[in-house]
Amino acid sequence: MRLLITGRPGAGKGTQAVNITKFYNIPHISTGDMFRAAIKNQTALGMTAKGYMDKGALVPDEVTIGIVKERLLEPDCKNGFLLDGFPRTIAQAEALDKILSEQNVKLDAVLDVNVAREILVRRMVGRRVCKTCGATYHIEFNKPKTEGICDNCGSALIQRADDTESTAVNRLAVYDSQTAPLLAYYEKQGLLKTVNGDQPVDHVFADIKLALSK
Ligand code: ADP
Ligand code: AMP
Repeated sequence: MRLLITGRPGAGKGTQAVNITKFYNIPHISTGDMFRAAIKNQTALGMTAKGYMDKGALVPDEVTIGIVKERLLEPDCKNGFLLDGFPRTIAQAEALDKILSEQNVKLDAVLDVNVAREILVRRMVGRRVCKTCGATYHIEFNKPKTEGICDNCGSALIQRADDTESTAVNRLAVYDSQTAPLLAYYEKQGLLKTVNGDQPVDHVFADIKLALSK
């Protein structure tokens, strides 16, 4: 399975990606996670990415395409992958097509997790992530068993630096102007499968499995 998961910021891509990658036994490639790891490790890539991420802007295409190209050449991607949060611009989508055609492979499907923008600021501002294993929670919609503690590994939960209200609003605007055109791009290629992301997490996953089985 070679898959993409797309959708507005906060739609639940990362949450569903965990289920999908476990179910299909494929690696989860999240450009957002790669940038956050680089920031944590204080690498040159992290320094570059941080300035854009803090504002809710996109990291430049040439930087983002470069890290994805390298990642897709790793051996664990040979039999499939799930790209989460990439591509986010038409230029990234065209670059991905080129990378895949050089490897003589094609995407199987593009999942669009559709959630109305009205509830997404609340989803982002209430998001909490485990600082050790990266598991995602929500202070209202997806609470851990013990407040502030990860169910999986017992580490502390933290709020992402870019999950403030003003950055969330900006990220939604960036989605509309730069990422939304990808839906028509993949619809034209016959790859787009839209699922309703405004339902409980396990219902969304059931719809994803159904969409991928067709
Ligand atoms: P994305 O990767 O698309 O930005 P996340 O998977 O991180 O989104 O989810 C954003 C927030 O919404 C998280 O706090 C997550 O726990 C919560 N969430 C995810 N899916 C759902 C859902 N189906 N219903 C309610 N809250 C959800
Ligand atoms: P995410 O974890 O997907 O919500 O991404 C968090 C932030 O990382 C975004 O707001 C961007 O600043 C940056 N980012 C992640 N993926 C990309 C991408 N494909 N292109 C450009 N910037 C990205």
